[in-house]
Amino acid sequence: MTPCRLCEIRCGVDRMSDQRGPCGAGRQARVYNAFTHLGEEPELSPCLAVFLTGCNFRCAFCSDGAHVDDPGLGVALDPHAIAQRAVGLKMVEFVGGLPDVNLLAVAECAEALPDDVGVAINTNGWFTPEALDAMAGWVDWLVADLKFGPGPCAQALAEISGYWPVLTRNLALAAAGPFRLLVRHLLMPGHLRCCTRPALAWLAERLPDVRVNVMTGYRPLHRATLRADGLGRRLDRAPAVAEVLAWPETRRLKHLSIDGVSRESARAPDLARRLESAGTARGRGR
Ligand code: SF4
Repeated sequence: MTPCRLCEIRCGVDRMSDQRGPCGAGRQARVYNAFTHLGEEPELSPCLAVFLTGCNFRCAFCSDGAHVDDPGLGVALDPHAIAQRAVGLKMVEFVGGLPDVNLLAVAECAEALPDDVGVAINTNGWFTPEALDAMAGWVDWLVADLKFGPGPCAQALAEISGYWPVLTRNLALAAAGPFRLLVRHLLMPGHLRCCTRPALAWLAERLPDVRVNVMTGYRPLHRATLRADGLGRRLDRAPAVAEVLAWPETRRLKHLSIDGVSRESARAPDLARRLESAGTARGRGR
């Protein structure tokens, strides 16, 4: 962190002196929410979800935009308070915002946890290989979003250039590393062909054994409400799920679920109908 190279912005500020780069995070991490989460994927639940301020993306549809815009919100991360609340749970899942821009503080917190409580990092995947190396040995689950395809959507929606080569490199590295990797992809209205299909096709081609969860809980939040390109509306879930499950590349993913419901547990049309009627919304539209 001196100079900081935790994420691919590589701005190089001195985080140990509490300097701040574009992510807004300083030496200490700040918590803006923490609760016992029963609705994450079965591998992670029940977990204590700990939401940290600071992020390097500026997603138009961010569900936690206020804490990205003002990373000074919340309270200082207290490892012992987190450890007490984690007793009896499977996992502490660090979320955000973005935990990997707060990696040192997260590692210090992980050290205070009971031995039988795992650690999950929920990331947008924009970390550096150096940051990934630093996670080895204490991170059990890397929960990485593959949000966008190789086209211009990452730039248009999250103000990030060079997204696809970095994300695919990082997911390949993470899959080969000492973590269990779970890749999440949020279906967004109007982005099934440009983002979802190439993302799932790449995963099927390169990482067919990796756990993949496709999420349907998109809601138009933050600046998405102002957009006229389709992101200002909710996802039409049943036809979107049916379309995704019909793609041949999707069928090559060995461990696929939709909102945590395994593909094997239901035929595609039944699953789409069940999701529609249940209003399942696992996952967040970060
Ligand atoms: S994590 Fe923050 S401070 Fe570090 S390189 Fe990225 S933007 Fe800069």
